[in-house]
Amino acid sequence: MKIRKLDHIGVTVNSIDEAKTFWTDVLGLPFEGDETVADQKVRTGFFPVGQSEVELLESTDPDGPIAKYIEKKGQGIQHVAFQVEDIDQALAELKEKGVRLIDETPRRGAGGAKIAFLHPKSTHGILVELCER
Ligand code: ZN
Repeated sequence: MKIRKLDHIGVTVNSIDEAKTFWTDVLGLPFEGDETVADQKVRTGFFPVGQSEVELLESTDPDGPIAKYIEKKGQGIQHVAFQVEDIDQALAELKEKGVRLIDETPRRGAGGAKIAFLHPKSTHGILVELCER
């Protein structure tokens, strides 16, 4: 499997509109826009940083996975995403190596990317996302 770069860091927030000020006005990053991924019940906002991005995640539903995450752990870094050349091949390889996968097959993420999550039990506590764009 070939990792191209650190694609983005996923950060959970109560409100993108509120949190945005820190990333733009305080840190001076551009805001690339927001997108709602309806089946994940999440609204995402992207702030490019060099070759990578910060991805803010806001729940669009009190029962959504991000709402539940914030309820348990609060706002903060939720996942780290690596961009891979071929996500299907990467998942097959990781499965063969005994890595526990949350997504056995890729799902559709923001920006039309193919994404899949690895289980934190197999990564020493980090929720790792693979993405292919
Ligand atoms: Zn992500």
